Amino acid sequence: MDEDKLLSDFNTEIDQAFQNAWHSEKGGDEKWNNILNTYGVIPLTKEEKDFLLNSEMKITRGAFPIELRRVFEVIIQKNISLASSSQKLTTALNNFNMEAKVLEYYQKIKPFSGLGDIFKNAATGTQKYSSGLQKEKQKTMTCKNCGAPRLDEMQYDNCLFCGSKLFEIK
Ligand SMILES: [Zn+2]
Repeated sequence: MDEDKLLSDFNTEIDQAFQNAWHSEKGGDEKWNNILNTYGVIPLTKEEKDFLLNSEMKITRGAFPIELRRVFEVIIQKNISLASSSQKLTTALNNFNMEAKVLEYYQKIKPFSGLGDIFKNAATGTQKYSSGLQKEKQKTMTCKNCGAPRLDEMQYDNCLFCGSKLFEIK
């Protein structure tokens, strides 16, 4: 097959997944679930979605980043087998930065942050200080990629919000 065609098919499929997730209703919808299904990706459970919707990781629209990541992973796996015949596709796959791509998506679905953030951060700072005394001993694990807190009461290896494996202790 034509090298350029393989590469453009890959880029198109990644872009379409991104757009479909973005155009989905907040937290996903039936159409998005159908897309997940065609990729053999299991959506988050209702319990996980409710948990995320009530977490500090606010979103205004779109499917959750972790579900888009899972679709990306399937697209990449599929293309790895095609890439042996295409140097261009191999390069594109090697250069695909999953964390950055998922973060780019998160930036598009999170609430608009303009000047308001300064006030919000100031308020959070005060709040942190006052609740800090109670929570002092409790170290929070946060996702290095999106900043979501990792909660001990929920058992999962990857960030529930964006799917990253990278955690750091704050
Ligand atoms: Zn994350």
